Amino acid sequence: MDMERTNTDNTELEKTESKNFIEQIIEKDLEEGRFDHVQTRFPPEPNGYLHIGHAKSILLNYGLANQYHGKFNMRFDDTNPTKEKEEFVESILQDIKWLGADWEDRLFFASNYFEQMYEAAVKLIKKGKAYVCDLSAEEIREYRGTLTEPGKNSPYRERSVEENLDLFENMKNGVYQDGEKVLRAKIDMSSPNINMRDPIIYRVAHMTHHNTGDKWCIYPMYDFAHPIEDAIEGITHSICTLEFEDHRPLYDWVVNELEYENPPKQIEFAKLYVTNVVTGKRYIKKLVEDGIVDGWDDPRLVSIAALRRRGFTPESIKMFVELCGISKSNSSVDYAMLEYCIREDLKAKKPRLMAVLDPIKVIIDNYPEDQVEWFDVVNNVECPELGTRKVPFCKELYIDRDDFMEEPPKKYFRLFPGNEVRLMNAYFVKCVDYKKDKNGKVTEIHVTYDPETRSGSGFTGRKVKGTIHWVSARHGIQSEVRLYENIVDEEKGKLNEDGTLNLNPNSLTVLKECYIEPNIADVKPEDKFQFVRQGYFCADLKDYSSEKPVFNRIVSLKSSFKLPK
Ligand code: ATP
Ligand code: MG
Repeated sequence: MDMERTNTDNTELEKTESKNFIEQIIEKDLEEGRFDHVQTRFPPEPNGYLHIGHAKSILLNYGLANQYHGKFNMRFDDTNPTKEKEEFVESILQDIKWLGADWEDRLFFASNYFEQMYEAAVKLIKKGKAYVCDLSAEEIREYRGTLTEPGKNSPYRERSVEENLDLFENMKNGVYQDGEKVLRAKIDMSSPNINMRDPIIYRVAHMTHHNTGDKWCIYPMYDFAHPIEDAIEGITHSICTLEFEDHRPLYDWVVNELEYENPPKQIEFAKLYVTNVVTGKRYIKKLVEDGIVDGWDDPRLVSIAALRRRGFTPESIKMFVELCGISKSNSSVDYAMLEYCIREDLKAKKPRLMAVLDPIKVIIDNYPEDQVEWFDVVNNVECPELGTRKVPFCKELYIDRDDFMEEPPKKYFRLFPGNEVRLMNAYFVKCVDYKKDKNGKVTEIHVTYDPETRSGSGFTGRKVKGTIHWVSARHGIQSEVRLYENIVDEEKGKLNEDGTLNLNPNSLTVLKECYIEPNIADVKPEDKFQFVRQGYFCADLKDYSSEKPVFNRIVSLKSSFKLPK
């Protein structure tokens, strides 16, 4: 009995210790009755494609909602008509669905709350907590003060409630030009927090909005709109990134002054940054516009669409985000950790095929001309459930150029004149001759095989040190293979002196004449495999067809990466 107790206590202890700070806050709120449920949201602005950092935010918010049996809202924060586009709404929803976050019937658009936001502003005016200000943008900046100096009150700060109500209505009715008047919260011009120095909450902008069209010519500012959106939807924990920490007092001010019951609570965590990749929208846009990459989903980028096209799985991204953890201080995570996660995810799940990326023809001089043997090959030695397949073998094969040398250095155990190697899953062959073209490039290798050494024949004779893979030249399917390296040269610095990206000229290698064993006949875009000794590959989402197979290398097999303890 005693033993049992101790055990349970220990497990309990371990559980609390491994809770991240957000989980701790949520559990405290539930315990103390601050909230009786959990409701989170992911609130992107539809102004670009989502990237790996957003994936972290999505999985965090969705994960917490699930963990506490709560709800997860998908909300477009589309209150700024200048930057937003309909096209991004679709791509964002598709990416979130693919990641596995399910908003069920809770899809919202902040622009649908414009009426309530307007009412909220009127309420503040009536409470004497907001005023219309005629200062220009520049004057507002001057009056604001600095980190060391307090600000000065606007000369319009003491306008009466009636005057403010009239002026605000006129703002709404299109009486003023852009920038002529703004609505400001009346808080404290001498606050040590600059965000509290009578921030602008509404501005005039004669613009067409993608959802509301020309209905509005005034638009709420983010710091005013966001807490209202959260409150309207009944969000309990509004999770955002660290740069909003100084805005939290304003968030709290807004929900308190508007007297929401059970107002939401803002919690900040550090953004995810990854080494060796480009996440800034500005840079990616330029790469796309300059034609350096093939769109926002180019497999060298880390937008969610690009990761998907490269061959990353939702599971691998989830594993990555979990390994990164949640923190309060900004830091970068090694790209190699993302590669580790996809290897871990695929290694026991996917079949292993033979593919030759840089072919040299091999002719088996003593193999019968018209004979074809079909070998039974295990699909994945680590996962017997994946079964076996038949791989054809005949007189003419391809092997990879790396696997042959005319004059090998010591410890080279692959094919060279006079040496014998094992053809993976097949026979031992010995190199007896080779041919070169006039440039000295090896074009053909002649070998002899030993019929006694057939794989699975129980042969227990001599040993060979090298095993190489191969593809039947008469059955192999010619394919295009794309190999990737980092798009920026991190070692020499991501940016050049002039602020442009220091691009790696070798970030993409396209191999047009690769041969893959014929077992890819039923492959569909996005299917993934290991090509033995070469890495993990994915049939390209956009360009793959059975007439023209195209495979992307997701990641090579080897890595010096070690999981941080
Ligand atoms: P970016 O400028 O990189 O596109 P953003 O913050 O402007 O980022 P939003 O569409 O406003 O993009 O972000 C939606 C949500 O994703 C926000 O809650 C934001 O805090 C979160 N988010 C954005 N970037 C990251 C990141 N690198 N790591 C974690 N969360 C992020
Ligand atoms: Mg943004």
